[in-house]
Amino acid sequence: MRVLIISDIHANLAALEAVLAQAEAHDAVWCLGDLVGYGPDPNECVERIQMLPRLVCLAGNHDKAVLGEIPAEAFNDEAQAAILWTRAVLKPASLEYLRSLPARVDLEAFTLAHASPRQPVWEYILNRQTACENFRHFDTPYCLVGHTHIPIIFAEGSPCGERTPDYNSPTALSTTRLIINPGGVGQPRDQNPQPAYALLDHEARVWHYKRAAYDPRVTQRKMLDLSFPERLILRLAHGW
Ligand code: ZN
Repeated sequence: MRVLIISDIHANLAALEAVLAQAEAHDAVWCLGDLVGYGPDPNECVERIQMLPRLVCLAGNHDKAVLGEIPAEAFNDEAQAAILWTRAVLKPASLEYLRSLPARVDLEAFTLAHASPRQPVWEYILNRQTACENFRHFDTPYCLVGHTHIPIIFAEGSPCGERTPDYNSPTALSTTRLIINPGGVGQPRDQNPQPAYALLDHEARVWHYKRAAYDPRVTQRKMLDLSFPERLILRLAHGW
């Protein structure tokens, strides 16, 4: 089974469509959460996601904030403005779908968590120290996380290892336990504005990092028309 791995769509339909159009053939999709927040197309993204084959989808912190399960005040001003706007425009069916999503699931060799296995909704795994502590909080060989919007692989050990993505060749998943982040689709933060995703060959245990080509101006124009905070609009062109 070939699995398309995506995360942090953040209501950016142009980025999501670019990934879906350019992704190599796959049989299933695993989405690590944050379908909405930040971007201008929340209903469209929630509806599009549900059409994907053999979908496993998590809820992220922005999804939970839109549902009122996390206070909007817990976010910075710009994120909060987008959350409040999203709450106002989401259709009942979209809200119902978001409400149905778990924040963590185990699928055979893989644990999926939006943020971290220790705190599935909120913790950022940005360094080896935090990654190292998190290996105690799941039992499977591999854990897939999103939330930071930065593609990276952490390996269990003392000290824990860290590997940046290789876009040119697939990575064979080691017998060493790993925490893997595919990067973000709708608001990348690794200084590369192109939507990040990955392809997983489930049986062969091979992971391949990818970037899709897309024009962020399509999404930026919609955000401008909706008077979104300027910083949220600008960052899409730069990947921060
Ligand atoms: Zn996110």
